[in-house]
Formats: sequence, structure tokens, C-alpha cells
Amino acid sequence: MNRELHEKFTAATREGGIKNLSEPAFSTGNDLFSEDPAAWKKDEETARASLSARIAEIDYDSSVPPREEPLRQYYFMERARRLVKAREEEAGRKLTFCVTTFGCQMNARDSEKLRGILEKIGYVEKESEEADFVIYNTCTVRENANNKVYGRLGYLHGFKKTNPGMMIALCGCMMQEDVVVDKIRQSYRFVDLIFGTHNIYKFAELAYEALQADQMIIDIWKDADRIVENLPVERKYSFKSGVNIMFGCDNFCTYCIVPYVRGRERSRRPVEIIREIERLVDDGVVEVMLLGQNVNSYGAGLEDHMSFAQLLSEIEKIEGLARIRFMTSHPKDLSDELIDVIAASDKICHHVHLPLQSGSSRLLARMNRRYTKESYLALADRIRKRIPNVSITTDIIVGFPGEEEEDFEDTMDVVRQVGYDSAFTFVYSPRTGTPAAKWAREDQTPASVIKDRFDRLLAQTQKDARNRAAAYTGSIQEVLVEEVNRQDPALVTGRMSNNSTVHFPGGADLIGRLVQVRLTECRGFYYIGEQIRV
Ligand code: SF4
Repeated sequence: MNRELHEKFTAATREGGIKNLSEPAFSTGNDLFSEDPAAWKKDEETARASLSARIAEIDYDSSVPPREEPLRQYYFMERARRLVKAREEEAGRKLTFCVTTFGCQMNARDSEKLRGILEKIGYVEKESEEADFVIYNTCTVRENANNKVYGRLGYLHGFKKTNPGMMIALCGCMMQEDVVVDKIRQSYRFVDLIFGTHNIYKFAELAYEALQADQMIIDIWKDADRIVENLPVERKYSFKSGVNIMFGCDNFCTYCIVPYVRGRERSRRPVEIIREIERLVDDGVVEVMLLGQNVNSYGAGLEDHMSFAQLLSEIEKIEGLARIRFMTSHPKDLSDELIDVIAASDKICHHVHLPLQSGSSRLLARMNRRYTKESYLALADRIRKRIPNVSITTDIIVGFPGEEEEDFEDTMDVVRQVGYDSAFTFVYSPRTGTPAAKWAREDQTPASVIKDRFDRLLAQTQKDARNRAAAYTGSIQEVLVEEVNRQDPALVTGRMSNNSTVHFPGGADLIGRLVQVRLTECRGFYYIGEQIRV
């Protein structure tokens, strides 16, 4: 644990009410695996068998847990399972859990890991937060996200009054801020467990402690330099899955809090990523989404450096995997090598999310984005020319501190030239703790001007998106069916390689299958289609 917090919470413990946990010795369990990529597949069964054997050998009755990870966490899962079983018998019913996720796909993936561990411990998932173990996996990218969590905590407190054995846990980016933890410690003392983004792998151990404690457990680390593999995961979809390839961010865009709460970049070793995907494919997954705050800088810091493009080429060789997506790309790191790999691939989806943020080189420098209007346009041009039918999507901020009309005109110019397939547009909102939040206090553009610019930008991006979508009408596309349509159960909904949504007549038996669909009608941002039987 970070020394400052460690001291703070040790002191708080002495004052009463808070229990502090220390970090265990760290081991990734990587010694289970071979370094030779050619032997990955061959070693897989041996590695799995070895891990299973070592888990089976754990002495769960001993009061001394293993020091090595992930064995240590398996020890705590079993110990926690025994506690939950006893509570279950006392209550005469199964105990339930609910994990609520705020924020991005990284958090969604983390929540799948939390679910996997809670199920292993013996809880049964339910949708309502009126459950026996509730976790909020929080996001702090937007200032008002914090207030939303505080508001919902009051609502949870009501449930806890009628179910005193209920456990309430908070984790995720918001918990990495000292001010938030202080506030919860003082004003929301009914919370049982707080942990952060760097020690989520320790959740079984923390849950075990919290189940026995009569005081709030807080365990926040300021950073982590290792990654623990091979813990249980409970996936939301059977046929697709997110896969973390790296954690953290080194970029420090001046409006963004992520590097402060997610720490520095750490890449998972290729062997671990490929093994995880092979296991997912064995389990029925046909599409993976590779996740990282800046996937294009994958590999920096690895002992044997591997670029993101090289990693994609290796993943593409996995038999049975049909589609590969990735999120998010930073324009400054998107290489020609990567463009070529995507262009030549049958599996890597022809969709590049390329956050622009602003089209003004002056503002881009102020945002610390490290590309210019000209270099961005040249990159988008290379992507469009070299990747057939590519979809380019983006994020754009309107009203960044100091934005003048000519800066905004530069943004509109880029938008018109690139012609995005879809754009997420945001009004700048100051995030405390970032450099831009200080500038916003002195240099904020009037709200009426921002609104006018936002409306103009939205009109342009919607027009471009409609035009680009219309061009596909009548074509036949491969669609991965994701679900029965929520409004019309006679339809199913799926996605094309470029991430566009398609609805067409079909039943639940198609879910998870790749089918050929003729796009009969474009309705702005989605299509109506019909399945082509081959
Ligand atoms: S690249 Fe910039 S915007 Fe993205 S997570 Fe890192 S600091 Fe935030």
C-alpha cells in the first residue's frame, strides 16, 4: 500500500473503525508457462493441469495462506466460500450479489472478474441491488459521476437497514482519490470494503476479511507493477469477451484523470494474452475486444518487446477466433505497421476508433495530445486508403478552456474532411485534479457559445454518419448476432465488422453465430436486413 495512505489508515485504525490490510508478497504465477511462443499451444494443457494440481494441493485448513499468487487468492476463495455457506445455512436461502458498473469497457471487464470470484465464493447473481453483497465498480472520469455514487449509497443504506448482514463494497477509479476515501470513511460508515484499481486481483482476500470484520476495510494502492493471471471470470456474453492487454496510461492528457487513478502503463505478456484467448475460444467465444487505455503503445516495458501490430498478428493465428476488435487507439502511436496488419487481416474488424478531441493544433498542444491537425488528417487518410470499407469513429470535446472560434473551425474542418462513421461529442467538463480544470476557472468559454458550437458539430457528425451508413444499403455483410431485439422479439440484433448495428428477422438460436445479412434499409444509424441462407 502507498505509504501515505498506509499511515493514514493505520492511524485511523487506532482511532477505531477502520481495518487496514498490508500487501502480500507478489508473484504472478508466470513460472507456470513457457516463454517459447511456438510451444504455447502445446504447453497449454500442461500449464492448466499444473495450476489445477497446485490449487488442489493448497491446505485450506491451515491458518497460513500461500504467499504466491494466484494460489493465495484461491485459498481465500475457499475460506470465504465456507463463511458464505455458514451464512446461507443460517438464513435458509442462497445468498445473492449484484455488481454495478460505472464507466468504460475496462471497468466492465473488471466487473466480470469480480462476478467470477463472487460466484466461486457461493453467491448467486441477481439484477436488483437489494442483494447480500453489492459492489459499485466506480468511474471518476466525469466530476458528476462521483455525486451519482454518493447518492446511490444512501439508497443502499436503506437495504442494509433491513438486511444487516449485507456487504457493501466500493472499488474502481473513484476509490483511487484520497478525498473520496476520506469522505466515505467519515460519512458512509456502513460501507464494508473499499479497494482500488491496482489490487482488484486481491478481491477474494479482501472479501474474506470484510466478511469477518466489524469495521470498514480499506485497501488502496497508488500503483502496481505486476499483473496476476488465472483468476476466475464470469463473462456477460458466452460468444464475445473483452481481454485486457494492458493497464494504465502514460499520456497525461491535460483534461484526463485516468493516469492518476489507473497508474502507469503495464502490458500483459503476449503468452498470457494468447492463452487467455485460446481458452475463451475453447469456451465458445468468437469475438474478442482487446482493451487498454492506449493499445497502440502495447509492449513498452516488456522484457521481449512486441508491438501491438505483432500481437494482433499472433492473435489472428488462433483457430476458431473469428473477430478481433480493439479499444482505444491514440493517434500519436498508431503505426503504418498496424494499418497494414489490419488491412491484410480477415479477422481484425475494419473499425478504428481514433479520438480527435480537437482539430486545432494549438488546442491539441494544450491538451498534451502530441499530434497536430495535419498529422491526424494524414493518418486518417492513410487508414481510409489502405483499409477497405473501414469505419472511423472518434471522440470530440467542445469548449476546452481557451477554445476560440477559429480553433472550433479547425475541428469542423477535420470532421468534414475525415467524414466519421460515428462521433461521440462532449462538452468539456472540468475534472478536479487535472491541469485543465485550473485553466477552466480562468479561461472558460461562455456556455451559450459552447452550446452553439456543440449543436453545429452534432449536426455535421450526424449528417456524415447517415451518409456513410447509407452507402452500405443493399450490400451483404457478415453479422455477429448478439441478442433478441429488445423492442421486437421477432427480430435479432447483431453487429457488422465495422461495428454498425443490424436488426433482422430471426430467433434466439442465432445468438453468437456469424450470419450473412443483406442490408435492405438504412435507418440513419442502424440497418434493417434479411438473412441470406447459404
Ligand atoms: S490517452 Fe489521454 S485521454 Fe486517454 S486515458 Fe490516457 S490521459 Fe486519458
